Amino acid sequence: MKNTNDGFVGESTRSVHGGEERNKFAQSLINPIAQTATFTFNNLDEFEAFKSGEKNLYEYGRYGNPTQRVAECKIASLENAEEALLFSSGMSAITSVLYAMLRSGQHLIIMEDCYRMTAKFCRSLAKFGIETTLVKPGDMGALAEAVRPETRLIFTESPTNPHLHVLDLEKLVDFAKERRLKVLIDSTLATPINQRPLDFGVDLVIHSATKYMGGHNDLMAGVVCGKGALIDAIREYQRITGSVADPNTSYLLIRGLKTLALRVARQNDTAMQIAQFLEEHPTVTKVYYPGLESHVDHKVAKAQMRGFGGLISFEIEGNLERTRDFVHRLSLPYLAPSLGGVETLVSHPATVSYYDLSPEERLSIGITDQLVRYAVGIEDAQELVDDIEQALAGV
Ligand SMILES: *Cc1c(COP(=O)(O)O)cnc(C)c1O
Repeated sequence: MKNTNDGFVGESTRSVHGGEERNKFAQSLINPIAQTATFTFNNLDEFEAFKSGEKNLYEYGRYGNPTQRVAECKIASLENAEEALLFSSGMSAITSVLYAMLRSGQHLIIMEDCYRMTAKFCRSLAKFGIETTLVKPGDMGALAEAVRPETRLIFTESPTNPHLHVLDLEKLVDFAKERRLKVLIDSTLATPINQRPLDFGVDLVIHSATKYMGGHNDLMAGVVCGKGALIDAIREYQRITGSVADPNTSYLLIRGLKTLALRVARQNDTAMQIAQFLEEHPTVTKVYYPGLESHVDHKVAKAQMRGFGGLISFEIEGNLERTRDFVHRLSLPYLAPSLGGVETLVSHPATVSYYDLSPEERLSIGITDQLVRYAVGIEDAQELVDDIEQALAGV
């Protein structure tokens, strides 16, 4: 199926109808799950017609599946992208894109605040002769210094995790264009509802669809969106590496995406309420939320985002013990990694995500013992606030 710009305007309309054929198999309303590993041809002439592009068919599960295709087209519609390509996880999207785009002798730049596994993978590229430089998000001076003749691309999240830095995409794209570099944005925390990086001239947008897009903490997938030619080149690579999303996962993702705009709007509102509550509370010393004027990147966020997302990080007054006590006193959120689903989740980054760093290394990237990460679900905001209030009162 070709990705047609289906002409849907609003983001909720795109969430529900984007990427779907009006007339589906057996006139079913809901897109069927094509649970098949391979596809058949009536004769070799048909195979040839398929290969020449004359006939729109599928060949083999690793090369694409109609259910996967609907999920891709829906996400392309939401991101204003020419094309989207689905993967078995966010990390498989990231690793496949970087493998496909980089070759030995080249260099890339990532941000210090980036997803742990992304940084690990980039460091591992050294064995192929590909070097990585880490710079502080938003430090344009350091970025300029990091660029070398062999630099190929800049890859960053926006917002970043856990400090929610928001990068000025226009500035970043101008900087990269002058130097003929590609810009890749991991936009997982923003979702296409809050930010569309391609509209700013970014080359590729990546999401862990495990988070907001799936939205129900019940699937793993990843996606990359961008211009057709670039995505086609990455798709060629995926045909070899095989990190495809299966039909059932694709179906769950389509189902989750239908409510994306609704869920994210709710999560934006609730997170803002909680952030404001936390900022006023004497037991909380620091709140990181781009919707607050006190956040370093608030101005940038306000200019380029339509909502500030559902993730909040904050610091509890005191020490490690008091912070652990606070986390344990929360009764509504589950203590679990991940974010973006309907259930509110809480995490203690120093214990859960950065346990393998020394305390000094953690501090150098702003992961204090007092830092708590709170990923808002879709529960009632007041109930979440009340729960946080009782936990703070208890410590
Ligand atoms: C979770 C996450 C990833 C990795 O995605 P998986 O689906 O877990 O492989 C990458 N980037 C960000 C920002 C994430 O939150």
